[in-house]
Amino acid sequence: LMQLFRPLDLLGWVYRTIRQGLVDMAEMFRLMDTDVEVKDIAGAPELIVRQPHVTFDNVTFEYEDGRTILKNLSFEVPAGSSVAIVGPSGAGKSTIGRLLFRFYDPQQGRILIDGQDIAKVQQDSVRGAIGIVPQDSVLFNDTLAYNIAYGAHDASDEQVTKAAGDAALMPLIDRLPNGFATTVGERGLKLSGGEKQRVAIARTLVKNPPILLLDEATSALDTRTEREILGTLKRLEEGRTTLAIAHRLSTVADADRILVLDGGELAESGTHAELLARNGLYTEMWAQQAAESNEDDAVSSEDQSPEGPEN
Ligand code: ATP
Repeated sequence: LMQLFRPLDLLGWVYRTIRQGLVDMAEMFRLMDTDVEVKDIAGAPELIVRQPHVTFDNVTFEYEDGRTILKNLSFEVPAGSSVAIVGPSGAGKSTIGRLLFRFYDPQQGRILIDGQDIAKVQQDSVRGAIGIVPQDSVLFNDTLAYNIAYGAHDASDEQVTKAAGDAALMPLIDRLPNGFATTVGERGLKLSGGEKQRVAIARTLVKNPPILLLDEATSALDTRTEREILGTLKRLEEGRTTLAIAHRLSTVADADRILVLDGGELAESGTHAELLARNGLYTEMWAQQAAESNEDDAVSSEDQSPEGPEN
């Protein structure tokens, strides 16, 4: 029985003390070598992604007995498109990300990537197909180059340099006397939230996954940095399937489709314009956020406009 409890204790500890995002949780699990929750079935094949189409098919999930978090949830993310998930706090948004990354298997229903049930393929291959940009990336006490290549240890210098360029990190790196060899992290150079985010984006570019899971990817940033990062994220999203879990509605307005989750169920879905026309929960959230943003900072209220300069 103790064997059962220990991983759960560790899991609780990870949740309480780390809270840094999915990618770092994956790393924690690997470091602690704890097989938490999911196990591959014997002889499970690898996931093979030709068309990175994501399907949630009637998914019901609870962390603990008797408290259903997601109820009969079904949605599709067509290959190459972007879907944003919004909804009130506790609605189950992050849980969707954790299920897609296969930290847990649903009690009912299936999650498919390119037609393959992710519970029936090797979990490493599922995680290998998904790049995560978490809300607050933690850097390792190592060089910038190491941090960018992390997760793709066979990455060449050229790939690292190209990713750094695409993630708009070069102005920073050019300023540093040791460039890519600069040690960052707690015991090295401290990077700003925006710079850390760019390292996470560069890391994901090197990994080159067909599917992206953005977990509130810009929430820790001020409005101006957020806007700059959004441009870089757009580049990352090109040619990939993107599932974005978001709080700030301003960051999701141009998703191909927005899912509004409420109490673990799909309340509404559609494009930003379609949802505004429905005058439902999304419209309510939008109005509320615009009002809060006006209170915070009258200047930043323009960011709430659905008609950004790119549209
Ligand atoms: P927020 O916007 O506040 O981050 P969310 O929509 O992402 O919320 P989730 O994190 O998916 O919500 O959580 C949904 C529900 O599941 C919440 O009620 C939460 O308390 C519960 N929950 C989350 N993680 C666990 C866990 N490890 N064990 C038990 N319950 C959990």
